Amino acid sequence: MSNVYDNILGLIGNTPMVKLNAVTREIPAKVYAKLESCNPGHSTKDRIALHIIEKAEEKGILTPDSVIVETTSGNTGFSVAMVSIVKGYKCILAVSDKTKAEKIAYLKALGAQVYVCPANVPADDPRSYYEVAKRIAAETPNSVYINQYFNELNIDAHYQTTGPEIWEQTEGKVTHLFACTGTGGTLSGSAKYLKEKNPNIKIIGVDADGSILKGYHETGKINPLDIKPYQIEGMGKNLLPSALLFDQIDQFVKVNDEMSAYRTREIALKEAIMGGYTCGAVTQGLIQYAAANNFGPDDLVVLIFPDHGSRYITKVYSDEWMAQQGFVNNCVHNYDEVFKT
Ligand code: PMP
Repeated sequence: MSNVYDNILGLIGNTPMVKLNAVTREIPAKVYAKLESCNPGHSTKDRIALHIIEKAEEKGILTPDSVIVETTSGNTGFSVAMVSIVKGYKCILAVSDKTKAEKIAYLKALGAQVYVCPANVPADDPRSYYEVAKRIAAETPNSVYINQYFNELNIDAHYQTTGPEIWEQTEGKVTHLFACTGTGGTLSGSAKYLKEKNPNIKIIGVDADGSILKGYHETGKINPLDIKPYQIEGMGKNLLPSALLFDQIDQFVKVNDEMSAYRTREIALKEAIMGGYTCGAVTQGLIQYAAANNFGPDDLVVLIFPDHGSRYITKVYSDEWMAQQGFVNNCVHNYDEVFKT
């Protein structure tokens, strides 16, 4: 039987690429989006959840009723919950009390036990979600703390899967890879593989306006003035994740909430790809990069589209939310005006 699997985990990875035909038409290169929403948990994080849990199994750490712990309400939470169900482990997620009820319901639907912790305490406070997760992992025998920001297996998951897929799908013709960096795992692991194949491939990280990563890459220092609140979830950071291999990255581009929001909506309206907010951010990163760098017809650009737009219906796809941010509402009618400025 073909295209038939023993369980849902068989669908992880081997995600398709789709050419962008309208949004990046001004750029003379071929541009492809790698649709990580085609993973069964609808994001790139399925890859790391599966890889980290299977590595722990190989080491003999896990027993049938083991506990998998992580500190996220986002994509990684969904993926860890999904892998835990199939493999028969208990999943505990420590999340902040800022997490929307809808997201907690989603995690619970996937069998996760969710601990809601105060957001307004320092990271080293025993009540913080970091400390709660660490304590649960330390006190529970045979448990695994995914710890995606500081786990080298996060990089390894993408070195083993995403990187080789990009190389094979483009028949080795990829010239540029762009990805938004949160933990940095996706870009670092893919970059490591691709640079081994061809050191001339340009690796571009897309950072959030409000994050320290671009500044650190350029100066080797954390600039506290770089830190400010922003709306895009899943990218940018106010600390240095060890899953981000700065030396694999040629350049960072910084994007803001507003342009990334327009771009996300534009991708849905013009390419019919309903992506998450960082799909707009990475595309905006390419467009800004292209304003300062030349592309030609032999260039083949790959953008990582990390997740699906269904998780952002009340955010970037909501006219009300756009208006609350002071962004131009129902922006399709105003694109030309907005992009001229
Ligand atoms: N976009 C979204 C929506 C994410 O959830 C993440 C993961 N934090 C990223 C981009 C960045 O991926 P990575 O953590 O591998 O850098």
